[in-house]
Amino acid sequence: MARRERRGPNAVYFGRTQGPPRKRVRRTAGGAEDRPLPMPIACLMSQHIGAPLYADAALVESRTQPHSLRGDDATMEIVAAVAWNPGETLTVEPLELEEPRPDEVLVKIEAVGVCPTDIGARDGRLPVSFPIILGHEGAGRVVQVGKEIRTIAAGDAVLVTPDACGRCDRCRQGQTTYCDNLFAYTFAGVRPDGSPRARKGAVPVRAAFFGQSSFASYVLATERNLLRVPGDAPLQWLAGLVCGAQTGAGAVWNAMPVTVGTALAVFGVGTVGLSAVIAAKLAGADPIIAVDRVSSRLRLAQELGATYAIDLGRVSYPVDRIIRWTDGGCQVALDTTGSPQVIRLAVESLATRGVCGIVTGKGGEICLPPSALLDKGRMIRGIMGGDATGSLLLKKLVGLFSEGKFPIDRLVKHYPFAEINRAIAAMQAGEVIKPVLLFSA
Ligand SMILES: [Zn+2]
Ligand SMILES: [Zn+2]
Repeated sequence: MARRERRGPNAVYFGRTQGPPRKRVRRTAGGAEDRPLPMPIACLMSQHIGAPLYADAALVESRTQPHSLRGDDATMEIVAAVAWNPGETLTVEPLELEEPRPDEVLVKIEAVGVCPTDIGARDGRLPVSFPIILGHEGAGRVVQVGKEIRTIAAGDAVLVTPDACGRCDRCRQGQTTYCDNLFAYTFAGVRPDGSPRARKGAVPVRAAFFGQSSFASYVLATERNLLRVPGDAPLQWLAGLVCGAQTGAGAVWNAMPVTVGTALAVFGVGTVGLSAVIAAKLAGADPIIAVDRVSSRLRLAQELGATYAIDLGRVSYPVDRIIRWTDGGCQVALDTTGSPQVIRLAVESLATRGVCGIVTGKGGEICLPPSALLDKGRMIRGIMGGDATGSLLLKKLVGLFSEGKFPIDRLVKHYPFAEINRAIAAMQAGEVIKPVLLFSA
């Protein structure tokens, strides 16, 4: 009922600004609206013309006012940043989003973080198909729930987390970041039945990236990938915790043998690496060594708990220092860069039986002589999403932030959603660690 009450003279209907909704064909089970998205869909792309190259702040504002869920239709108008083709700038424009199915929740996004994974997907370096709405660090308020939803209600403040199937052996064992259906739920950008959730006129637009596609004023999610937070929670900061912070903190707390007195080196101190530094400090690791080539990040790492910092722009081979500072090598090294050269440095920095964690697959092939591992019994292991179980880790981070112990706000810089491309460029240039886009800005 809430959605009907929100309708009024300011209602924005697709293709026009007001007036009664036009009759549309209702979506029916197995009907045209439910058909799987044809792949490839490049042939449909030619229908997309005239999208604005740059966002219009007034457009974003007009589509984020309480409005216009179409009571008797299957879609509502939203505004989203769409990736139409690999490598192209995102375009902020109006689209149609389906209303929630029985197992879905409609969330009005207030803040959304930007992650390097979004950029990798935009540039076609990840297995996504186009057009697609990216974004996977959403925070907002529930507007409407499907009739099967039991644990989430309209009005709840929520963080939108990466989705997983919830049914496979990995999920049942709590290893949701290693879901057997990970790629379908993460990168396919469509529902499990293949439907895309959104469209631009006749063109299907994938709107289930990481189960959310939250570079949009509204998203559809499920109970699986929503974490309810207190109603007065500062969503503009908490959005920064959803992905990279979980990856870094979870690597330290869940995946690696880090405890009081563990000697740890973190290679690359962006959001993931700085979160690892904060988590390691909370765990009592000592010393904590931060390695990067951006001096401002290294300063922040030291403010957040790093004992030492090494600037790779000045010291090309940091291994000797690390071995000296740790009396023989660190027990744990974490690479957040994906760079094969940096991973090699991380491994060479390890003590006997030390372990190197890798958290991103964006780099090239790792090249090491077998003796680099064998002689000292060293190990390398992959860590996806901080080995998190559902939203338990995120809940812990939210609690620590509220206590002032996990200061993600030190990493975040806010931008209006309309300036998403500027935010991405600033992150790529190393000027900003964690951009968070705001719809109310
Ligand atoms: Zn699963
Ligand atoms: Zn991410």
